[in-house]
Amino acid sequence: MPSDFCPPPLAPLYVVPTPLGNLADLSARAREILTSVSWVAAEDTRHSALLLRHIGARPRLFSAHAHNEQKAAEQILKNLAAGEAVALVTDAGTPGISDPGARIVAHVHAAGGRVIPLPGPCAAITALSASGLEATRWFFYGFLPATAGARQKELAALKHWACPIVFYEAPHRVVESATDLALILGGERRLFVARELTKQFESTAVLPLSEAANWFMADPMRQKGEFVLIVTGRNEEEESTESSAAGERALQILLADGLPVRQAARLAAQWSGHDKKSLYKRALLMRKER
Ligand code: SAM
Repeated sequence: MPSDFCPPPLAPLYVVPTPLGNLADLSARAREILTSVSWVAAEDTRHSALLLRHIGARPRLFSAHAHNEQKAAEQILKNLAAGEAVALVTDAGTPGISDPGARIVAHVHAAGGRVIPLPGPCAAITALSASGLEATRWFFYGFLPATAGARQKELAALKHWACPIVFYEAPHRVVESATDLALILGGERRLFVARELTKQFESTAVLPLSEAANWFMADPMRQKGEFVLIVTGRNEEEESTESSAAGERALQILLADGLPVRQAARLAAQWSGHDKKSLYKRALLMRKER
């Protein structure tokens, strides 16, 4: 091999979002890519074959799902090295977002390949845009664990986020999840429900978390289909109630230990994050009551 031999560049891997339900949401560019690539790596080849047939595309298909991602990644690299472009698709929405794809993309990066992402449908973004919530910052969680214990533990860890939190949920778990959301995050927060986005029975609702489980149970139709649930973040009132309770507990301990009121209030404020002045007033009262 001559010393200046340079292998031909890899063909690109396109990451192609597909419609959540309404086929008209396939972008013109996605259509163009799907009709021009040699290969489509699909989460479910039978499912994607319908979309490809609908747009008159005839690429060769192979499967790339959660359980064969490593093997699929190796296959994709072979195709790219042979100069054959590959498009990666999942059943609906954007690959890699609560869907297979990340490992394949990482593999292509590691091999020095080119990954070209197309913008397009994503249930989380579509729901957020209709939520009316300030989404300059938001937290995407995806699917909560299936068991109550694990779910509640995860929610407890999310409790302190001050921005909207976005969940994906399956129909058979939506009531359980709504129950735990209220239990752990508190019934006063608001829930935005986006069901069957872009489909015939699309619906949205805004309700307090305290009413969410009953609302779902009141009509079995409300539990059918695919869901994005968006919960508002922790607000200042919640924060203040929590820090006040923590401050009060700290004061009790410090005063019982004999600390002067001013010092107890200062330490309790530092520890709890609650306002020093109100803790000082509270400490004076507590001392008087003793
Ligand atoms: N990659 C996809 C995306 O970009 O949104 C998400 C795939 S994840 C396996 C499927 C979940 O996305 C569903 O369980 C549901 O929570 C949400 N989802 C997908 N399509 C939806 C729709 N039409 N309406 C509401 N939620 C949807």
